[in-house]
Amino acid sequence: VEHVVVVGAGLSGVRTVEALRGRGYAGRLTLLGQERHRPYDRPPLSKAVLKGDADTSFIDTDLERLQVDFRPGVAAKSLRAGVVETTEGELDYDGLVIATGADPIRLPGDGPQHVLRTLDDAHELRVMLVPGARVTVIGAGWIGAEVATAARRAGCAVTVIEAAQAPLASAIGTELGARTIPWYDGIDLRLGTMVESVDEGGVRLVGGEFVESHVVVTGIGVRPAVEWLADADIDLHNGVVTDEHLRTSLPGVVAVGDCAAWWSRRWGARLRVEHWDTAINAPEVAAATLMGEEAVYDPVPYFWSEQFGHMLQYAGHHASGERIVHRGEPEGKWAAVWLTADDRLAAVLAVDRPRDLVQGRRIIEAGHRLDTERLVDPQVALRDC
Ligand code: FAD
Repeated sequence: VEHVVVVGAGLSGVRTVEALRGRGYAGRLTLLGQERHRPYDRPPLSKAVLKGDADTSFIDTDLERLQVDFRPGVAAKSLRAGVVETTEGELDYDGLVIATGADPIRLPGDGPQHVLRTLDDAHELRVMLVPGARVTVIGAGWIGAEVATAARRAGCAVTVIEAAQAPLASAIGTELGARTIPWYDGIDLRLGTMVESVDEGGVRLVGGEFVESHVVVTGIGVRPAVEWLADADIDLHNGVVTDEHLRTSLPGVVAVGDCAAWWSRRWGARLRVEHWDTAINAPEVAAATLMGEEAVYDPVPYFWSEQFGHMLQYAGHHASGERIVHRGEPEGKWAAVWLTADDRLAAVLAVDRPRDLVQGRRIIEAGHRLDTERLVDPQVALRDC
């Protein structure tokens, strides 16, 4: 391989550059980044940056030392075998990394609608989070909950509109999500409520009601950023389809991070995980694959969220219908685990109980059975169950 082009200068793109050099790749490396910023980390955007505790979250990496030709403000427009067409002309490659992440979904309507994906989004939004501002957040998922946290702390009058019957329902289910409802104290939380459009001055709900707002933030999820691949001869299905080595259907092309849907042997399923841990760890495997080494990406996925003064952490992968066992009461620090039919751990959710998370993740990795009677006692360490 003589020229590797990495499309997307987010965490997974930069980590792939580092991993390639770390493995001794000495050829040409080009990193295309649609944004004009140096690569930065996204989790701090909805936490430190939105709250004003930090202005930036640049990734600690030395692109010069890595001898990478970093091209900020340049986007890939299309792909054919061996050639990427960019906004500044064509680039030949013999190895290609697709690391274009994901884009926020927006709602219909002509009114101003904020999303939170980029550093620029965070800067635009935070100056509007002033005391007394009426802020409407659409979606009580991970991003919505973190934005609501920041807006409430800034003294805004916050409304959160959620289509499901509980916050976080699509990720952790209605029953567990409902345990976070009391955290919305002081916020007008409207569950089971659908938005029709974002209009000038506020949000129109299905049924006609208008929620007046100075600021509207839409946090209803993202889509893999793969439109630029629409005409390419590459398998796409909920992102870029890859095998367990992160190889796509096009020779010499791998995909990583939020845009990649990889085959997991462990779960017997194709997974696409929009979280930081995947963006930081999958690149080692992608780099190895590009260099012709044998490597498999098959993690126990992990993520966290900081909201309303609580730390939520989740590891694993659960199917709906799996048995849930609770550890601890909703008022305090608690955890929940999803069990397979034969009492193995499929996933763990820990709220302010980091040890349950760490131990649970190891148990999932090891794949052994648990004693469900001990499991319900939050005093018993998970590793002793
Ligand atoms: P991205 O970070 O999206 O990077 C992709 C880059 O590619 C972008 O810079 C994009 O501009 C660029 N690009 C796109 N298309 C093109 C193109 N055609 N040509 C060139 N460049 C292109 N995860 C957690 O686990 N915990 C958290 O607490 C958490 N908090 C988050 C908070 C926020 C506000 C956001 C937005 C995300 C958060 N995440 C969190 C998720 C985590 O940040 C993502 O999973 C991670 O950023 C994915 O990295 P990536 O490199 O795959 O994609």
